[in-house]
Amino acid sequence: MEELRSFAKIFLTGIYENLERIIFGSGRYTDIELRNAILSGTIKLPKTVIEELCIGCEGCANVCPTKAIEMIPIEPIKITENYVKDKIPKINAEKCVYCLYCHDFCPVFSVFNEVSPIHPRDVGEYVEIDVSKLLQKKIEISEEQINKICSLLSINLKKILGDK
Ligand code: SF4
Ligand code: SF4
Repeated sequence: MEELRSFAKIFLTGIYENLERIIFGSGRYTDIELRNAILSGTIKLPKTVIEELCIGCEGCANVCPTKAIEMIPIEPIKITENYVKDKIPKINAEKCVYCLYCHDFCPVFSVFNEVSPIHPRDVGEYVEIDVSKLLQKKIEISEEQINKICSLLSINLKKILGDK
């Protein structure tokens, strides 16, 4: 009986919280507050790109719905025999709507299943990954999915991967 009561309480609390979200918009303000804090300079803009981990494919910039990502030219870095990285992304916080498309479509995350080098809030801890080794890693996603991701990139990832 006690269990049933607890269950009912959890259920009702869940309903109430969802109604609050729908009717009063509660829980939607976190991103807006964060955005305003960044824009007003109250908090320091978090690090959003791990440059060492990025392969400069431009996928994030191509997929961003608000064109918040600009690719910045860098001193070219040879990553593999077939590929030189010559740009990295920069997020414009004023245009970002925190949809996370950049993060989710980044091939480092979506193809290789590693920590994404891009995140609209904060990439968190630095992770040491050798990108040239990463590009040799066996990939385990469907042909259809990799074709979709490759169509978003400005580099020929399939060629770099040796048509895997
Ligand atoms: S999270 Fe921001 S930067 Fe990333 S795709 Fe969405 S709008 Fe663009
Ligand atoms: S999609 Fe990922 S690897 Fe490609 S440029 Fe953006 S952050 Fe770098």
